[in-house]
Amino acid sequence: MPAGKRPGAKPRRDAPAAGKEIAFDGLGVSPGIAIGPAFVHDIRTIAVREYSLAASEVEKERERLRSALDKALRQLSKLKAKSAGLPPSAAEEMGYLLDAHAQMLSNSRLVRGVHRRISEDRINAEAALQAEVAAIAHDFQSMHEPYLAARVQDVREVGTRLLRNLTKTPFQAFKQLREGAIVIAEEITPADTALMDPDRVAGFAAVSGGAESHTAIMARSLGIPAVLGADGLIGTVRNGDIVVVDGDAGKVVVHPTAATLDFYERKRLEQARLQRQLARLSKLPAVTRDGVEIVLQANIELPREVEAARAVGAMGVGLLRTEFMFMNRDEVPTEEEQYAALAEIVKGMGQRPVTIRTLDVGGEKIAAALGQEFEPGPNPALGIRAVRLSLKQPELLEAQLAAILRAGAHGPVRILLPLVTAPSEVTEVRSILARVARRLVRRGVAIPDPLPPLGAMIEVPGAALAADALAQVCDFFAIGTNDLTMYTLAIDRGDEQVAHLFNPLHPAVLRLIQFTTEAALRNRIPISLCGEIAGDPRFTALLAGLGIRELSMSTVRLARVKQRVRALDLAAAVTRARTIMEQSDSAKIATLLDDFNALA
Ligand code: PEP
Ligand code: MG
Repeated sequence: MPAGKRPGAKPRRDAPAAGKEIAFDGLGVSPGIAIGPAFVHDIRTIAVREYSLAASEVEKERERLRSALDKALRQLSKLKAKSAGLPPSAAEEMGYLLDAHAQMLSNSRLVRGVHRRISEDRINAEAALQAEVAAIAHDFQSMHEPYLAARVQDVREVGTRLLRNLTKTPFQAFKQLREGAIVIAEEITPADTALMDPDRVAGFAAVSGGAESHTAIMARSLGIPAVLGADGLIGTVRNGDIVVVDGDAGKVVVHPTAATLDFYERKRLEQARLQRQLARLSKLPAVTRDGVEIVLQANIELPREVEAARAVGAMGVGLLRTEFMFMNRDEVPTEEEQYAALAEIVKGMGQRPVTIRTLDVGGEKIAAALGQEFEPGPNPALGIRAVRLSLKQPELLEAQLAAILRAGAHGPVRILLPLVTAPSEVTEVRSILARVARRLVRRGVAIPDPLPPLGAMIEVPGAALAADALAQVCDFFAIGTNDLTMYTLAIDRGDEQVAHLFNPLHPAVLRLIQFTTEAALRNRIPISLCGEIAGDPRFTALLAGLGIRELSMSTVRLARVKQRVRALDLAAAVTRARTIMEQSDSAKIATLLDDFNALA
């Protein structure tokens, strides 16, 4: 339970004087301005199912609790390190609070009680936790001691943190949001973001997360302005406070003054005007001034994004991240459900090709429905994820491949494998694909003949360096610069603390892109690039100059890239790319690129 009174025992987490404007800096990860009432995330609304355990399952359940506790401790120490950057008095208050929470995670009544309920009542950890929190709250409140009554809030907060860690549950509460709300949270997962309805969630801001995280990617896909990595939000913003999220500048303003609101309203109008201008490009081809087409495609996650992809004039879907179909549900989707979603997308894109990537869970992308299938190892980014999971659980892969093949009867599809590191992974999948296809044909199900092209994401340095060998077994490549940058530079793409070091212009990353592209051209297989830099006009000249002719990106970014392509002299871009590739310093590279972009 909370350790005795803290020094000074002054009221904690004082809000700033009511109505006083306060601004937080973070990473602008999804453009646009959103203004609305705050919805401060609280997962007390999570519906927890209680179930009984067999005697043999008790130890495993206690272990699950221990890892949720460990994770909570790591989260608190990260929050504490970050709160050091706040103004001194706020940092001190936050420090007391986080220390008290950390103490509750060790040998406290809460932890002992939950362990006991798991062992004695033989119930799951979530149910045991909720019962213990309720019991403690009841005891404290019945003591009529104001100090203890105030501690109930701490117990609940720690309980919800643990519950979230145990269930990996997203924000079901989004459904009850007021229209135009701004979601404020410590962390928002990719699965949470996938639940957001842009008609309800005007914007969001969180304390953690990087610009290349899947949360950021999803926000861009849905067109929801977002700021991540904004320290100090939690404990300051209250439900209903008016908040501005500036997804371009990476600012969150709470209690904006009339002048600030006026400033952002004008900015919003200006952006709307620019959007209308860009929308006019949707019907025009993405052709450089010297007549070379750069095929611009869409990265999407869910069927509901197809309309936007078509509206911006995407030439196809260059990356469909199927893992989002596995999130926010208790069961793995059946082949039939997967087929229905994929067929909707394929049909929706007309005869434009759809590149369907097989399941890429693991790392930061967690699908609770797969909880039984895999437990992330000590280092999830290097563990069983992506194609490794598919090969370890072939029945998952087979259902997915069957759904893709059936969807392929409605329009051109390609199959893309994530996180490939060795040719054997591709050949293994190819033989599973052939087996699945034979089974479908025997049942008289319509599938494409010949089978769809099978390609590999090149997103691990080892794969890039082995590109010639991989090209022997692949029908196409798609370079994923998000993971390629992360793995090359050892920078976690989802960690805001190292976000400033995430640099796709690092010469090592560029060499791997160049090497992969040349290997694809040498081996005469198509190559595209679908990492986030594909959607950043700053990179267009360099990527085209390196020989890439297909770029796939969030739909919200496509018009700006098309505008850049249409202004581009490809011959000059090739010359500039050559000069850039002779450099060994990323700052020099950035200057050479920016100078080129400024001129043409
Ligand atoms: C990448 O890694 O660049 C990529 C496109 O895949 P994802 O962002 O889904 O990991
Ligand atoms: Mg990737």
